[in-house]
Amino acid sequence: MTKNYNSSEIIKAILEEAATFKRETDVRPAGRVISSCDGVVMIEGLMDVKNGELVRISDESYAIALNLETEVTGAILLSASNEISPGDIVYPTGETIKVPSGDNLLGRVIDPLGQPLDGKGPFRASSYRDIESPAPTIFDRAKVAEPLYTGIKAIDVMIPIGKGQRELIIGDRQTGKTAIALDTIVNQKGKDVICVYVAIGQKTSSVARVVKDLTKQGAMDYTIVVSSTAGQPAPLQYLTPYSATAVAEDFMYRGKDVLIIYDDLSKHAVAYRTISLLLKRPSGREAYPGDIFYIHSRLLERSAKLSDEKGGGSLTALPIVETQDGDISAYIPTNVISITDGQIYLETELFNSGMRPAINVGLSVSRVGGAAQSKAIKKVSGKIRLNLAQYREMLIFARFDADLDDATKEVLKHGAILTEALKQKQFSPVSMTDMAIEFLILQNNLLDNFPAKNTQNIITNFIQLYKNKGLSQIYDHITVTKELSDKDAAKILDEFKEYISKIKN
Ligand code: ATP
Ligand code: MG
Repeated sequence: MTKNYNSSEIIKAILEEAATFKRETDVRPAGRVISSCDGVVMIEGLMDVKNGELVRISDESYAIALNLETEVTGAILLSASNEISPGDIVYPTGETIKVPSGDNLLGRVIDPLGQPLDGKGPFRASSYRDIESPAPTIFDRAKVAEPLYTGIKAIDVMIPIGKGQRELIIGDRQTGKTAIALDTIVNQKGKDVICVYVAIGQKTSSVARVVKDLTKQGAMDYTIVVSSTAGQPAPLQYLTPYSATAVAEDFMYRGKDVLIIYDDLSKHAVAYRTISLLLKRPSGREAYPGDIFYIHSRLLERSAKLSDEKGGGSLTALPIVETQDGDISAYIPTNVISITDGQIYLETELFNSGMRPAINVGLSVSRVGGAAQSKAIKKVSGKIRLNLAQYREMLIFARFDADLDDATKEVLKHGAILTEALKQKQFSPVSMTDMAIEFLILQNNLLDNFPAKNTQNIITNFIQLYKNKGLSQIYDHITVTKELSDKDAAKILDEFKEYISKIKN
């Protein structure tokens, strides 16, 4: 027997069904290229593409969607733009961009997409990571409490860096910025720290030189170089630091200590400005777009010291920024200074006067590293900064050739000796213990009777001689405990006094 329905019941049933109807299909609308210029493609018809999603153009090319508008999507190309023509079909992939990570990358030079650049063939990745990922939360972090030695005396004694810290290296062109970064990498040899050197928008020859230097110093075994050179499109340069950080994070989340160097963020900002202008985003100060601060803060926030529950790994960042005419109040320098935990300021004037590394101690600071400094170094570094500052001040008066009183003469003498002691050649790292002994001697002003230029010779010869003989026990004790007891300090000073008395005779 058939049941009779009236029309309202039928309508009600249809409406109910329609309300709960779900379109179960993953077909997404494809788009079409409208225009392509300098690595930026405009696409129409991509209705539901997400920000940062990877899209495929025709068969071979890929781009990342960045500007989402109702009609048009702006995307940045990951390959050469001469393969794109108007009308090409664009498919959303539903994926974000990922890079390979893992131990097999050590010793390799890769581009921001994870392709090898060193001609050593492909490698097997242990996993793939999103190039953009959120920074560790407040609860995932621990305090910066362990030192990361650079092996550079001026830094380790006066501007100490801790694991998980972000310390900016800033200065004009050709002032030794890259040199400090490379010295720090070389000093990590045998210390179980993974290093990632990120070259952004540099000359290919400069990157080749860095790789050659690191190889020669035996530092490539624990280092990964991620590079996009000046000849590559701006989108690739823009992605480089994010993808290098993803490579570094993989090690950090596996409990390792990692050091990452961004060389340099000024060129990164310029690459992003290029993209933004091509995407027709409004420009602000110095023609940089409004979100220029955010692109660097979200990058540097990914550096951290993780808590024990999260494996205790760390990511220490040394971003580099180039200034024009020493102007640290320009837009990008002030931005990055405010994001980092301190800066090492290099000066052309110092560099040209022969002071290398050309660090201006007065303008350099480390806001968190002090907590990480070893007790031995802390004990001998107290007065050094002050003495140097006084010396610089007095130096101005000394220029007038006025009659100087004895106290001033003493400040000048000690300052000259200290300045001499802080000079250091490239690729000659000094160990923590050597530094502790050296600055103990300097702090006690025992070299006043010698010309300042002999300072380094006398001290290094003394340490060399006694490391293996009279002081070897004390030396090892400082190395192991990282402390310098009053008794040991007195013993070292006695030995040193005896040593210099022999030089004089
Ligand atoms: P750029 O602006 O070109 O990137 P930079 O600031 O990175 O330059 P570097 O390339 O590191 O500077 O150094 C410039 C020159 O100074 C190099 O030839 C380098 O070998 C030399 N140099 C740097 N530091 C020292 C040092 N401590 N002792 C001797 N030479 C040094
Ligand atoms: Mg450089």
